[in-house]
Amino acid sequence: AWHVSEPLPPRPLREDAALADTKRALARQFEALEASSSSADAPPSADAPPSAPPSWDPRQEAAMEKYWVQRLMLFSRFSDGVRMDREGWFSVTPEVLAAHIAERCRCDVVVDAFAGVGGNAIQFAFTCERVIAIDLDADRLALARHNAQVYGVADRIEFVHGDFLALAPRLRADVVFLSPPWGGPEYADADAFDIDTMMGGLDGTAVLHAALAAAPNAAYYLPRNVRRGQVAARARAVDCPLELERCFLNGHEKAVMAYFGFEEGEEE
Ligand code: ADP
Repeated sequence: AWHVSEPLPPRPLREDAALADTKRALARQFEALEASSSSADAPPSADAPPSAPPSWDPRQEAAMEKYWVQRLMLFSRFSDGVRMDREGWFSVTPEVLAAHIAERCRCDVVVDAFAGVGGNAIQFAFTCERVIAIDLDADRLALARHNAQVYGVADRIEFVHGDFLALAPRLRADVVFLSPPWGGPEYADADAFDIDTMMGGLDGTAVLHAALAAAPNAAYYLPRNVRRGQVAARARAVDCPLELERCFLNGHEKAVMAYFGFEEGEEE
């Protein structure tokens, strides 16, 4: 059985000067980015966010039916109107795990670089002052925004439609969370998961370097069969402390979290 806690009430944003500067800088970056990417067929004032596509029901496909029973494990508030697309059913981080990761990443500004339908970004919104949720797919980002509204935390998340690798040089954050595509559920069939060649066309090392250029800490959500020696070698190459955490859920190993940076600070 999994443990599900009630979402915390929204906290006011902390108005510390450094963070305010960061937020202003980010707002300027996003304005510039939106201005340069707006196409001719976009409505003149695109203030209203795009509405989320309808939810995809896994019971319509035999091979996907098994995911329906897991819906409350993926989102405890599923029945309050959470929407998913087909890919979301097998790729979203189960909520207890997303909450655990968010607790470990507690900070002012966190970037969720591959936000998908928002499972991680929502949990970050409960532990971090500001969340920047990026995704290349506008429909998935609209689903993430919709789901964040269901959880009452959308106001704390900046949704950015774009390519993380292109955006990264202009981002500044305390932590970058990385959950790039694992190439579908077939990832588990490989003997070992290679971060450089198996992420659906993305170079996992380049993704890590982009994250560490934007933040001193990067939290990488990786398949359970990831080549741990490869991950350790990447940390050594950039002289960064590394902690590997095996994530178990209901007795099954679900994933490996690689925390780059994350040195123990003195607690006050
Ligand atoms: P999750 O939903 O758990 O974050 P997925 O495997 O569904 O994981 O998601 C990977 C997400 O990353 C997809 O939503 C995809 O659109 C997005 N994506 C893929 N390449 C990029 C990129 N270069 N920049 C930002 N997002 C990307």
